[in-house]
Amino acid sequence: MSNQTTALVTGANKGIGYEIAAGLGALGWSVGVGARDDVRREASVEKLRAAGVDAFGVPLDVTDDASVTAAAELLGDRGGLDVLVNNAGITGESPQEPTVVDPAVIRTVVETNVIGVVRVTNAMLPLLRRSPAPRIVNMSSTVGSLTLQSANTDATGPISAAYAPSKSFLNAVTIQYAKELGDTNILINLGCPGFVATDLNGFRGYRTPEQGARIAIHLATLPDDGPTGGYFDDNGPIAW
Ligand code: NDP
Repeated sequence: MSNQTTALVTGANKGIGYEIAAGLGALGWSVGVGARDDVRREASVEKLRAAGVDAFGVPLDVTDDASVTAAAELLGDRGGLDVLVNNAGITGESPQEPTVVDPAVIRTVVETNVIGVVRVTNAMLPLLRRSPAPRIVNMSSTVGSLTLQSANTDATGPISAAYAPSKSFLNAVTIQYAKELGDTNILINLGCPGFVATDLNGFRGYRTPEQGARIAIHLATLPDDGPTGGYFDDNGPIAW
Protein backbone atom coordinates (compact mmCIF):
# COMPACT_ATOMS: atom_id res chain seq x y z
CA MET A 1 0.00 0.00 0.00
CA SER A 2 1.28 3.48 -0.91
CA ASN A 3 2.13 6.03 1.76
CA GLN A 4 1.47 8.88 -0.63
CA THR A 5 -0.93 11.49 0.69
CA THR A 6 -4.06 11.96 -1.43
CA ALA A 7 -6.00 15.23 -1.57
CA LEU A 8 -9.20 16.31 -3.28
CA VAL A 9 -9.62 19.97 -4.19
CA THR A 10 -13.12 21.02 -5.28
CA GLY A 11 -13.35 23.64 -8.01
CA ALA A 12 -9.72 22.95 -8.95
CA ASN A 13 -10.03 23.71 -12.65
CA LYS A 14 -9.18 27.39 -12.26
CA GLY A 15 -8.46 30.26 -9.90
CA ILE A 16 -7.36 29.59 -6.35
CA GLY A 17 -8.40 25.92 -6.49
CA TYR A 18 -6.03 25.22 -9.36
CA GLU A 19 -3.15 26.76 -7.41
CA ILE A 20 -4.06 24.79 -4.28
CA ALA A 21 -3.87 21.62 -6.40
CA ALA A 22 -0.51 22.74 -7.82
CA GLY A 23 0.85 23.57 -4.36
CA LEU A 24 -0.23 20.28 -2.78
CA GLY A 25 1.08 18.43 -5.84
CA ALA A 26 4.46 20.10 -5.39
CA LEU A 27 4.65 18.38 -1.99
CA GLY A 28 4.59 15.04 -3.81
CA TRP A 29 0.93 14.42 -3.02
CA SER A 30 -1.52 12.79 -5.36
CA VAL A 31 -4.16 15.42 -6.13
CA GLY A 32 -7.73 14.93 -7.31
CA VAL A 33 -8.91 17.79 -9.48
CA GLY A 34 -12.59 18.10 -8.57
CA ALA A 35 -14.44 19.90 -11.36
CA ARG A 36 -17.86 19.71 -12.97
CA ASP A 37 -16.88 20.47 -16.58
CA ASP A 38 -15.14 17.61 -18.40
CA VAL A 39 -13.12 19.77 -20.75
CA ARG A 40 -11.95 22.27 -18.10
CA ARG A 41 -11.13 19.43 -15.69
CA GLU A 42 -9.04 17.44 -18.16
CA ALA A 43 -7.20 20.57 -19.31
CA SER A 44 -6.23 21.29 -15.70
CA VAL A 45 -5.17 17.71 -15.04
CA GLU A 46 -2.98 17.83 -18.13
CA LYS A 47 -1.43 21.16 -17.15
CA LEU A 48 -0.72 19.91 -13.62
CA ARG A 49 0.81 16.70 -14.94
CA ALA A 50 3.02 18.71 -17.30
CA ALA A 51 4.22 20.57 -14.18
CA GLY A 52 5.11 17.23 -12.56
CA VAL A 53 2.05 16.85 -10.35
CA ASP A 54 0.52 13.43 -9.78
CA ALA A 55 -2.94 14.77 -10.71
CA PHE A 56 -6.12 12.87 -11.55
CA GLY A 57 -9.57 14.05 -12.56
CA VAL A 58 -12.59 13.76 -10.27
CA PRO A 59 -15.90 14.64 -11.98
CA LEU A 60 -17.68 16.66 -9.31
CA ASP A 61 -20.63 19.01 -9.09
CA VAL A 62 -20.96 19.87 -5.40
CA THR A 63 -24.69 20.56 -5.80
CA ASP A 64 -25.45 17.10 -7.16
CA ASP A 65 -25.85 14.11 -4.83
CA ALA A 66 -25.13 11.49 -7.50
CA SER A 67 -22.00 13.30 -8.66
CA VAL A 68 -20.66 13.60 -5.11
CA THR A 69 -21.40 9.93 -4.35
CA ALA A 70 -19.60 8.87 -7.53
CA ALA A 71 -16.61 11.06 -6.61
CA ALA A 72 -16.34 9.35 -3.21
CA GLU A 73 -16.49 5.95 -4.94
CA LEU A 74 -13.76 6.98 -7.36
CA LEU A 75 -11.49 8.05 -4.48
CA GLY A 76 -12.29 4.89 -2.52
CA ASP A 77 -11.39 2.75 -5.53
CA ARG A 78 -8.07 4.62 -5.82
CA GLY A 79 -7.22 3.80 -2.20
CA GLY A 80 -8.70 6.59 -0.08
CA LEU A 81 -8.46 10.25 0.85
CA ASP A 82 -6.38 12.17 3.41
CA VAL A 83 -7.12 15.82 2.74
CA LEU A 84 -10.28 17.52 1.47
CA VAL A 85 -10.19 21.15 0.35
CA ASN A 86 -13.71 22.52 -0.10
CA ASN A 87 -12.77 25.38 -2.41
CA ALA A 88 -15.62 25.49 -4.99
CA GLY A 89 -17.73 28.59 -4.54
CA ILE A 90 -19.88 31.13 -6.34
CA THR A 91 -20.88 34.73 -5.67
CA GLY A 92 -24.29 34.51 -7.33
CA GLU A 93 -26.03 37.06 -9.48
CA SER A 94 -26.49 40.73 -8.69
CA PRO A 95 -28.22 42.65 -7.25
CA GLN A 96 -27.56 41.29 -3.74
CA GLU A 97 -28.66 44.25 -1.62
CA PRO A 98 -31.11 42.67 0.86
CA THR A 99 -34.00 44.96 -0.09
CA VAL A 100 -33.94 43.89 -3.74
CA VAL A 101 -32.28 40.47 -3.84
CA ASP A 102 -34.15 37.64 -5.52
CA PRO A 103 -34.51 34.94 -2.82
CA ALA A 104 -33.61 32.37 -5.50
CA VAL A 105 -30.14 33.91 -5.65
CA ILE A 106 -29.63 33.37 -1.92
CA ARG A 107 -30.83 29.78 -2.28
CA THR A 108 -28.43 29.09 -5.16
CA VAL A 109 -25.42 30.57 -3.39
CA VAL A 110 -26.13 28.69 -0.16
CA GLU A 111 -26.69 25.48 -2.13
CA THR A 112 -23.12 25.69 -3.49
CA ASN A 113 -21.17 27.48 -0.75
CA VAL A 114 -22.69 25.79 2.29
CA ILE A 115 -24.79 22.74 1.44
CA GLY A 116 -22.27 21.73 -1.23
CA VAL A 117 -19.55 21.69 1.42
CA VAL A 118 -21.71 19.58 3.76
CA ARG A 119 -22.62 17.20 0.93
CA VAL A 120 -19.00 16.69 -0.17
CA THR A 121 -17.61 16.52 3.37
CA ASN A 122 -20.11 13.89 4.51
CA ALA A 123 -19.53 11.77 1.41
CA MET A 124 -15.76 11.89 1.96
CA LEU A 125 -15.77 11.40 5.75
CA PRO A 126 -15.75 7.57 5.66
CA LEU A 127 -12.53 7.79 3.61
CA LEU A 128 -11.01 10.57 5.72
CA ARG A 129 -11.68 8.61 8.93
CA ARG A 130 -9.37 5.87 7.62
CA SER A 131 -6.48 8.32 7.02
CA PRO A 132 -3.66 8.65 9.58
CA ALA A 133 -3.73 12.47 9.35
CA PRO A 134 -7.03 13.72 7.90
CA ARG A 135 -7.47 17.44 7.24
CA ILE A 136 -10.46 19.39 5.93
CA VAL A 137 -10.04 22.95 4.68
CA ASN A 138 -13.12 25.05 3.94
CA MET A 139 -12.49 28.13 1.81
CA SER A 140 -14.30 30.98 3.47
CA SER A 141 -13.70 34.72 3.33
CA THR A 142 -13.31 37.67 5.69
CA VAL A 143 -16.63 38.81 4.21
CA GLY A 144 -18.17 36.07 6.37
CA SER A 145 -16.88 37.67 9.57
CA LEU A 146 -19.83 39.04 11.56
CA THR A 147 -17.39 41.01 13.70
CA LEU A 148 -15.89 42.77 10.70
CA GLN A 149 -19.28 43.16 8.96
CA SER A 150 -20.86 44.76 12.01
CA ALA A 151 -17.85 47.06 12.45
CA ASN A 152 -18.36 48.01 8.78
CA THR A 153 -14.66 47.75 7.95
CA ASP A 154 -13.48 47.93 4.36
CA ALA A 155 -12.46 44.23 4.46
CA THR A 156 -16.07 43.19 4.03
CA GLY A 157 -16.86 43.97 0.38
CA PRO A 158 -20.14 45.21 -1.05
CA ILE A 159 -23.53 44.90 0.68
CA SER A 160 -24.67 41.36 0.04
CA ALA A 161 -27.52 39.22 1.29
CA ALA A 162 -26.24 36.10 -0.46
CA TYR A 163 -22.47 35.74 -0.83
CA ALA A 164 -21.24 37.25 2.45
CA PRO A 165 -23.90 35.53 4.62
CA SER A 166 -23.17 32.24 2.85
CA LYS A 167 -19.61 32.44 4.18
CA SER A 168 -20.90 33.31 7.71
CA PHE A 169 -23.13 30.23 7.44
CA LEU A 170 -20.16 28.13 6.28
CA ASN A 171 -18.14 29.40 9.24
CA ALA A 172 -20.94 28.45 11.65
CA VAL A 173 -21.33 24.98 10.13
CA THR A 174 -17.58 24.40 10.25
CA ILE A 175 -17.52 25.14 13.99
CA GLN A 176 -20.22 22.49 14.44
CA TYR A 177 -18.12 19.95 12.50
CA ALA A 178 -15.10 20.78 14.66
CA LYS A 179 -17.17 20.18 17.81
CA GLU A 180 -18.56 16.87 16.57
CA LEU A 181 -15.18 15.66 15.27
CA GLY A 182 -13.29 16.97 18.29
CA ASP A 183 -12.47 13.50 19.60
CA THR A 184 -11.11 12.29 16.24
CA ASN A 185 -7.79 13.04 14.50
CA ILE A 186 -9.59 15.12 11.85
CA LEU A 187 -8.62 18.79 11.83
CA ILE A 188 -11.15 21.06 10.08
CA ASN A 189 -10.46 24.75 9.54
CA LEU A 190 -11.56 27.77 7.53
CA GLY A 191 -9.22 29.78 5.34
CA CYS A 192 -9.55 33.17 3.65
CA PRO A 193 -7.34 33.66 0.59
CA GLY A 194 -7.46 37.48 0.64
CA PHE A 195 -8.73 39.52 -2.31
CA VAL A 196 -7.50 37.49 -5.28
CA ALA A 197 -7.75 38.26 -9.00
CA THR A 198 -10.01 35.50 -10.35
CA ASP A 199 -13.20 35.05 -12.37
CA LEU A 200 -15.12 35.32 -9.09
CA ASN A 201 -14.56 39.08 -8.90
CA GLY A 202 -13.87 39.93 -12.54
CA PHE A 203 -10.13 39.80 -11.76
CA ARG A 204 -10.35 42.90 -9.55
CA GLY A 205 -8.41 41.29 -6.67
CA TYR A 206 -4.87 42.45 -5.97
CA ARG A 207 -3.41 39.08 -4.91
CA THR A 208 -2.41 36.28 -7.26
CA PRO A 209 -4.18 32.90 -7.13
CA GLU A 210 -0.87 31.43 -5.97
CA GLN A 211 -0.84 33.79 -2.98
CA GLY A 212 -4.51 33.00 -2.36
CA ALA A 213 -3.71 29.28 -2.24
CA ARG A 214 -1.15 29.65 0.57
CA ILE A 215 -3.56 29.57 3.51
CA ALA A 216 -5.29 26.43 2.19
CA ILE A 217 -1.95 24.69 1.72
CA HIS A 218 -0.95 25.69 5.25
CA LEU A 219 -4.20 24.34 6.73
CA ALA A 220 -3.98 21.16 4.61
CA THR A 221 -0.53 20.40 6.02
CA LEU A 222 -1.12 21.16 9.71
CA PRO A 223 0.72 18.94 12.20
CA ASP A 224 -1.33 16.53 14.33
CA ASP A 225 -1.40 19.02 17.22
CA GLY A 226 -2.57 21.84 14.95
CA PRO A 227 -5.76 23.83 15.48
CA THR A 228 -9.27 22.74 14.57
CA GLY A 229 -12.40 24.86 14.22
CA GLY A 230 -10.28 27.94 13.42
CA TYR A 231 -10.69 30.78 10.91
CA PHE A 232 -7.45 32.05 9.41
CA ASP A 233 -5.81 34.08 6.70
CA ASP A 234 -2.10 34.54 6.01
CA ASN A 235 -1.85 36.94 8.97
CA GLY A 236 -3.33 34.51 11.52
CA PRO A 237 -6.77 34.17 13.14
CA ILE A 238 -9.66 36.24 11.73
CA ALA A 239 -12.25 37.70 14.11
CA TRP A 240 -15.51 35.72 13.87
P1 NDP B 1 -13.27 31.06 -9.33
O1 NDP B 1 -14.58 31.58 -9.80
O2 NDP B 1 -12.03 31.39 -10.10
O3 NDP B 1 -13.33 29.47 -9.18
C1 NDP B 1 -14.42 28.86 -8.54
C2 NDP B 1 -14.32 27.37 -8.77
O4 NDP B 1 -15.45 26.75 -8.15
C3 NDP B 1 -14.36 27.00 -10.25
O5 NDP B 1 -13.49 25.92 -10.47
C4 NDP B 1 -15.81 26.59 -10.44
O6 NDP B 1 -15.99 25.68 -11.51
C5 NDP B 1 -16.03 25.90 -9.11
N1 NDP B 1 -17.44 25.65 -8.84
C6 NDP B 1 -18.46 26.53 -8.73
N2 NDP B 1 -19.62 25.89 -8.54
C7 NDP B 1 -19.34 24.56 -8.54
C8 NDP B 1 -20.10 23.39 -8.39
N3 NDP B 1 -21.43 23.42 -8.23
N4 NDP B 1 -19.47 22.19 -8.43
C9 NDP B 1 -18.13 22.11 -8.60
N5 NDP B 1 -17.36 23.19 -8.76
C10 NDP B 1 -17.96 24.39 -8.74
O7 NDP B 1 -13.17 31.56 -7.81
P2 NDP B 1 -11.92 31.67 -6.80
O8 NDP B 1 -10.81 30.81 -7.21
O9 NDP B 1 -11.70 33.12 -6.59
O10 NDP B 1 -12.62 31.14 -5.45
C11 NDP B 1 -12.27 29.94 -4.81
C12 NDP B 1 -12.83 30.01 -3.39
O11 NDP B 1 -12.21 31.08 -2.66
C13 NDP B 1 -14.34 30.26 -3.32
O12 NDP B 1 -14.91 29.49 -2.30
C14 NDP B 1 -14.42 31.75 -2.97
O13 NDP B 1 -15.62 32.08 -2.32
C15 NDP B 1 -13.20 31.90 -2.07
N6 NDP B 1 -12.75 33.27 -1.96
C16 NDP B 1 -12.26 33.95 -3.05
C17 NDP B 1 -11.82 35.26 -2.92
C18 NDP B 1 -11.27 36.04 -4.07
O14 NDP B 1 -10.90 37.23 -3.86
N7 NDP B 1 -11.16 35.48 -5.27
C19 NDP B 1 -11.87 35.96 -1.61
C20 NDP B 1 -12.38 35.16 -0.54
C21 NDP B 1 -12.79 33.87 -0.71
P3 NDP B 1 -16.50 26.16 -12.99
O15 NDP B 1 -15.25 26.57 -13.74
O16 NDP B 1 -17.14 24.93 -13.53
O17 NDP B 1 -17.45 27.29 -12.79
